[in-house]
Amino acid sequence: MRMSMLLAPTLREVPAEAEIASHKLMLRAGLMRKAAAGIYTYLPLGYRTLQKIEAIIREEMNAADGQEVLLPILQPAELWHESNRWDDYGEEMFKLKDRNGRQFCLGPTHEEIITALVRTEIRSYRQLPLLLYQIQNKYRDEIRPRFGIMRGREFIMKDLYSFDRDAQGLDKNYWKMYHAYERVFARCGLKTRPVEADPGAIGGNMTHEFMALAEAGEAEIVYCSHCDYAANVEKAQSVISSGKKTGVLEGLAKVSTPNIRTVEELGEFLGRPASDMIKTMLYHNSDMVVAALVRGDHAVNDIKLARAVGVMELELADQATIEEVTGAPMGFAGPVGLKGCRIIADPTVMEMENAISGGNAVDVHMTGVNPGRDFKPDLVIDIRTAQPGDSCPCGQGTLIGARGIEVGQVFKLGTKYSQALGATFLDEAGEENLLIMGCYGIGVTRTMAAVVEQCHDDDGIIWPMSLAPYHVIVVPINYRDESQKAVVDALYEDLTMAGIEVVLDDRNERPGVKFKDADLIGFPIRITVGPRTLENKEAEVRLRSTGEEYVIPLSEVVTNAKERIRRAIEAELPDSRRGR
Ligand SMILES: [Zn+2]
Repeated sequence: MRMSMLLAPTLREVPAEAEIASHKLMLRAGLMRKAAAGIYTYLPLGYRTLQKIEAIIREEMNAADGQEVLLPILQPAELWHESNRWDDYGEEMFKLKDRNGRQFCLGPTHEEIITALVRTEIRSYRQLPLLLYQIQNKYRDEIRPRFGIMRGREFIMKDLYSFDRDAQGLDKNYWKMYHAYERVFARCGLKTRPVEADPGAIGGNMTHEFMALAEAGEAEIVYCSHCDYAANVEKAQSVISSGKKTGVLEGLAKVSTPNIRTVEELGEFLGRPASDMIKTMLYHNSDMVVAALVRGDHAVNDIKLARAVGVMELELADQATIEEVTGAPMGFAGPVGLKGCRIIADPTVMEMENAISGGNAVDVHMTGVNPGRDFKPDLVIDIRTAQPGDSCPCGQGTLIGARGIEVGQVFKLGTKYSQALGATFLDEAGEENLLIMGCYGIGVTRTMAAVVEQCHDDDGIIWPMSLAPYHVIVVPINYRDESQKAVVDALYEDLTMAGIEVVLDDRNERPGVKFKDADLIGFPIRITVGPRTLENKEAEVRLRSTGEEYVIPLSEVVTNAKERIRRAIEAELPDSRRGR
C-alpha cells in the first residue's frame, strides 16, 4: 500500500474527548473515528488489526473444536421473555419495534438465541458435546460510554457456547476454553491474568475473567506474590493475622461521644486504632435488612454480603431504615442489643477483644464489646473486601493490588438457560435431560484497546508483530529524488512479492513528518533509504519496539524483514503449530 493512497488521517493534537492512552492513540494514529457516543467507525489501519485479532481467535476456537456460526443481531422479544431477561436486562438493552408492532432488541448477548437454536437441533446425547461460536457486534446502551472502544455501546465480541450432557463435560470444555484464551491473548501480545470472579446470578457457577493489567483498567484485582492466586476484589479472599488475644475481657460500657460518627473521629476521641472498632453497616433490599460487621479498618464487600444472604443485590440502608432498626441516626449503629435485622459478621470481627462499637443511641458508643459474649451474629462469613497487603489464602504470599481491563470471561452457566428455554436431549435410556451450558466471551474491540494500552510510548503505538496493521514501512528521505525513488519502488515491489505487508511512504513530506507518523501508527519495522545509505547500496532498519537501528545491504532487506516477522509471530504460537 502506498501511503499517498492510504486513508490514515493522523493527528498531531491530542483529541479533547480522549482521556486514556489507547483512546488518544487510536484516534491520533487514524485507526478509528467517533460516529456517536460509544460508537466508532474503523478506518483501514484499525480494521486490519481487528481482523488479525479475529483471525487469531478463529484459529484457537477452531483448534478447540469450536464451530463458527453467525447469529442475528436483531432478536425477538419472545425469547427474552422466556428467560425472564426482557425486563431484568434494564435500560442497557436497545429495544425496538417492527412495522407490525412486534418487539425486538439489538442483541446485548446471545444466550437466548443460541439456546433456542440448540433446543430444536439437538435431540440426542450422540450430538454432544457441541461448541458453537460467533464473532459479532453487540449492543449495550451504557449510561456512560467512555474510553473510546474500551466501553462502547456497539462493540465486537467473540462468544462461544458449550453444550454438554453432564458437569464433567462442562468442566472439560471450561478448561479447554480457559487454555485457548491464554493462547489467544499471548498471541495478541497481551499480558493477561485470569482471575476468579463473582458469578453474579444465584446458583451461578465458576467463572474466570481474563484481565489485561493496565492502569486505565476499570477492574480492581489482587494477585499473590507467591502463588497463582488472583481474583477480582469483588470475589477475592485473603487472610488477616488476628491480633494477639489477651483473654482479659473488660466489661461492656457506654461512653458519651457527642457528634462523633466516623471511625476516624471515634479513634481520635478514644485514642484507639480503627482496628479496635466494629464497623456496623446496614444494608437492605425490599425483603430484608442486614447488619454487616467488619473491623473498623476494613470495608464491607457488598457483593460477598449479598451472596452470603442469598440475594442478587443489597444496597446501603437509608436514614429512615437505620433509625427504625437501631433507634439512632446514622453513625451510631452497633451489634449489641440490635434487633429487627440479620447480623452478618466477618470472621475477623469474631476474633476481636474489648472492641468499640456504636451504641444504638444518639451520641453513644460502647466499649468493652466482646463478640460472642455481648452479641451473637446470625452468620459468620467472609464479607470483607480483600486489600493489597493482606495475606494470600495460600498462607505464603502477600496480595498485590492492580488494575485490569477485562478482555475475556469464561463462565459455567449450568442449566440456567436450558431450563428457562426448555433445551433438552435424550440420553441412552431415552430419558430427557437438560443441556449443561458454558459461555465464553472475548471483547474483540476491547482487546485492541487493551493492547494499545499496554504497548505504547510517548511517540505512539508499538504493535506486537501479530497485530500490526502492516509489518513494514519503507521511508525514502526524498521520494522526489529519482535515484531514491527507483530504489524504494523496487524495494517495495520486492517486499510485496515476498508476501510482506508493507507500506511505502511516497508522500512529499519532510522526513521528520514521515518518521513521526511511522512511530505513531507503530509499524514494527521501518526501512529508511536516503542519500547516505544509497551510496553503499544499503538501507537503515529501525525496530519500533526497541528503537534498535542497523544498516544492512539493500539485497538483504527482504530476507531480513521476512525472518524477523516470522520469528516474532511464531514466538507466541503453541509449539505444535510452529513452522507451518
Ligand atoms: Zn498465594
